[in-house]
Amino acid sequence: MKRPRDNGEVMTGYMKTFIFSLIFMSVVGAKADFANLSQDCVNDLKKFPGAWDDKLLKQACERVLVNSLCVSSEGRPIYHYDKVSSTPGAKKVLVFSLIHGDETPAGTVGRYWMERLEGIDPRNTWRVIPVLNPDGVKYKTRTNANKIDINRNFPTKDWSTGAIENWKRTTKSNPRRFPGAEAGSEPETKCALYHLEDFQPDFIVSVHTPLKVLDFDGPKVSPPPKFDYLPWKSLGNYPGSLGRYMWLERKTPVLTMELKENLPPNLAPFERLQDIIGSLVKLETERDTRPTASPPTSFLPVALEH
Ligand SMILES: [Zn+2]
Repeated sequence: MKRPRDNGEVMTGYMKTFIFSLIFMSVVGAKADFANLSQDCVNDLKKFPGAWDDKLLKQACERVLVNSLCVSSEGRPIYHYDKVSSTPGAKKVLVFSLIHGDETPAGTVGRYWMERLEGIDPRNTWRVIPVLNPDGVKYKTRTNANKIDINRNFPTKDWSTGAIENWKRTTKSNPRRFPGAEAGSEPETKCALYHLEDFQPDFIVSVHTPLKVLDFDGPKVSPPPKFDYLPWKSLGNYPGSLGRYMWLERKTPVLTMELKENLPPNLAPFERLQDIIGSLVKLETERDTRPTASPPTSFLPVALEH
């Protein structure tokens, strides 16, 4: 028979639980409280062009969550949707859509993939953040409400020495690409960093418009999976960009989808692309060694940087 615990032990137990809860809350992050989150999600996502399925969208939006670190600078929730695969050893795919608020068709892809995942048991586990920059979507701007380009605000090692300098030199201080005064300064960047840390993705997809290419920051794939809707082309990456932060510095592949300005007549290419990503993830993450990224194979004018 166990001897009853004395008060000292009980207190220690309570304190341990309390301290553990505090640590848990600060590490995992608390859920932010948005009373109408599901309905907000439905309303937000219906604003993007193209068709949606009412039932699947509602179902997907009923499952979105928002972490306390994921609130935009104007207080809008940056919610995420998780679909866990039942396949043993499934890999994890993280999708950021609308990192740039004026690239509306990117929202269609986020919405469509959430709906589709709702109806299948995927090979990989997926986390979709359909709107990373809700203030930018509201104002139809590339930047967030603080006029900062989130895709130049990631804390890459060369941020302090390179981000501002690169912005001045290569963009002639274009306000659409302002990296901010400090690395990782923006709530939207902090939210993205939270998800990278919390979800520990094997593969990242970032959805943009309008360059009409698939740009893969990852190990060389030859030949790349066939995809007629968009050609594969390397655009390179920049101080403060997600590709530099996650692939060059952390060796997690990043696929940047640059969509056309108009949607395809039906969403079949996005379905096909989701399947290609599923295969690419398997291919990439099964390798033992990962070579360094190859240099950009093409030159694009600065105006075309994603
Ligand atoms: Zn973009």
